[in-house]
Amino acid sequence: MTTQRRRIPVNEPVIGEAERRNVLRCLEQGWISSEGAFVDEFERTWAAYCGMTEGVAVSSGTTALELALATADLEPGDEVILPSFTIISCVLAVLEAGAVPVLVDCDPDTWCMDVDQVASRIGPRTRAVMPVHIYGHPVDMDPLLALADRHRLRVIEDAAEAHGAQYRGRRVGGLGSMSCFSFYANKIVTTGEGGMVLTSSPETAARLRSGRNLAFGTERRFLHTALGHNYRLTNLQAAIGVAQIASIDERVRRKREIATRYTDRLTRLPQLQLPVERPWATNVYWMYGVVLREDAGIERDELAARLRDRGVDTRPFFVGMHEQPVLQRMGLFAGERYPNSERIASRGLYLPSGLALTREQQHVVCATLEDALR
Ligand SMILES: *Cc1c(COP(=O)(O)O)cnc(C)c1O
Repeated sequence: MTTQRRRIPVNEPVIGEAERRNVLRCLEQGWISSEGAFVDEFERTWAAYCGMTEGVAVSSGTTALELALATADLEPGDEVILPSFTIISCVLAVLEAGAVPVLVDCDPDTWCMDVDQVASRIGPRTRAVMPVHIYGHPVDMDPLLALADRHRLRVIEDAAEAHGAQYRGRRVGGLGSMSCFSFYANKIVTTGEGGMVLTSSPETAARLRSGRNLAFGTERRFLHTALGHNYRLTNLQAAIGVAQIASIDERVRRKREIATRYTDRLTRLPQLQLPVERPWATNVYWMYGVVLREDAGIERDELAARLRDRGVDTRPFFVGMHEQPVLQRMGLFAGERYPNSERIASRGLYLPSGLALTREQQHVVCATLEDALR
């Protein structure tokens, strides 16, 4: 007898009764645009959770980054330092602001920006630095903040993958001058599509709010003194977000539980490099990534194919920004090499890590992986 087992997905959102109730309230009351009480509540509760005073909800993590960079007073040719190993949204936001992205490599173990490399990349045009908390592990922020302070650089965190993660007891997203979040369906807290910029500066928040909403005039609505965007989040989306935030502690606890189970079992496989958690960090393991060691005897894509054939979905790691054809064609990062980023981009993949993953499914993932590596 053959049993038809369901594929084990990399990630699936978990939507509860409270989300349904909140959305129905929007529909019943007609508050379906970006006007509505859920948007305010979502902004207030998320900012407070992260230790900032102001939240500005937007349509995605990418538009959060674009809006934050647009509000960072960058002149054409100004430089922003960021990791090569990240999602392209980060570079898009820098380019959109008319600035130049300047890269650093990642740490071989945390996969986050190597903070030691930042100092050597600071020049007369450097204005900002963008730490990205990769796959749930925080960047080593204190040395970065000290460096930024000394050189008067803005620090714009990308905390899209690290909802609830902590750095020396402080929440990420509350450590820089601005921070950006995504609430895309695969993020720890989701609104389907959505994002937010946090700051503790009321002046910056006012500019973010204006920029999110077409920079309408304050005296005469249709008289504009700045160019804005339509990056608004709907009340329907925020209604989901408000319900999701209420369960953030449980979400983070589950992510960490899934990671502990994987680490306990997979640590016996010498072919795999597993995620780390530095003593100063609370990793939320947004995705549980593994990197195949050079002597593993199998390439990443072959391993992914074997797992897929046996019903286990995985995703390859990011490809570094200096390896992107579209950016190279623009003349960016010519001849630059970031060996740690290149290594994990070609050897890393992440395993099913969704909040709905059952203990049984996780056992199947591990057994399949052990088998595929035998
Ligand atoms: C998901 C993600 C984004 C982009 O968010 P979207 O909501 O998909 O636009 C930005 N940065 C990082 C690090 C991400 O993981």
